[in-house]
Amino acid sequence: MFWTGELIARSAPVRRRPTGEPPLSPLAERATAAYLGLAIGDALGASVEFMTPTEIRQQHGVHRDIVGGGWLRLKAGQVTDDTTMSLALGDAILAHGRVDARVAADAFDAWMRAKPVDIGNTVRRNLITYRKTGNPEAPPSEHDAGNGAAMRVLPVALATVGQPEDAVRSASAAQAHTTHHNPLSDAACEVLTLMVQDFLAGQDAAAVKRQRVLPLIERFPLFACDRKRRDNPSGYVVETLQAVFQAFFATENFEDCLIDVVNRGGDADTTGAIAGMLAGARYGLAAIPRRWRDALDGNIQRRCRDQAQALIASSASLA
Ligand code: MN
Ligand code: MN
Repeated sequence: MFWTGELIARSAPVRRRPTGEPPLSPLAERATAAYLGLAIGDALGASVEFMTPTEIRQQHGVHRDIVGGGWLRLKAGQVTDDTTMSLALGDAILAHGRVDARVAADAFDAWMRAKPVDIGNTVRRNLITYRKTGNPEAPPSEHDAGNGAAMRVLPVALATVGQPEDAVRSASAAQAHTTHHNPLSDAACEVLTLMVQDFLAGQDAAAVKRQRVLPLIERFPLFACDRKRRDNPSGYVVETLQAVFQAFFATENFEDCLIDVVNRGGDADTTGAIAGMLAGARYGLAAIPRRWRDALDGNIQRRCRDQAQALIASSASLA
């Protein structure tokens, strides 16, 4: 049972802003900040992906600007698979008016054919299997606990705003299982999706920690993140979320959160992307440093903004 819905324009009250930009509802503004946050965290973290904190210190001091480079030799402001898979998924949700496994698998398959700058091993393997079998759901695997599904939850979170939690969970599992069919990945995807929605609804960090993070740790004690500082987080979704949660809950603004998490090194584009998504949803557009927004690739900026707002508009008919 997956979420399906008609795409109907949102008619919520809006505030006219003096800048000449289109007016945004508070919900659409936070959704836009979450999407820009995802892309900014990806672009910022990619420069130091797979480096250790010591190597980062030697090369950058504190890494705090979007400068490109890294092992992928990116242009400044360029993003990686974390952002482009999310955009591919969101475009497909908007085109089909629903989230289901087939829509997601076809979107990721087309994304892979377009030769992305990077791609995770689990994503590649299970999309190749999909081409052979036509089954959009990857086989369950205790080994497929990478962060590749968790990094691209945002379009589902935005498309299912206002839905009952069971419907949100089904949609989350549908997109995740196209490449990662694993209980730890599933739990991570669900918790991130629901956290984004909580922040879009204006909840504060303490409440969200209580109602989402602590129950996750109760269910899967592996995710505990209160003792040892998680540096060099790998692509294992448990380490990814430990680093993200430590940085997010130890800081009080968008900029500090992202600088904290990417300077831990490891899978820094992905921790940056996930932390940026949460921090964007929590702190809103005004909290995103101008220098980071300006540095982000212009086409990616526009796609993130337009897609965030279209997904929120599409969710309104179901809210
Ligand atoms: Mn990446
Ligand atoms: Mn990565």
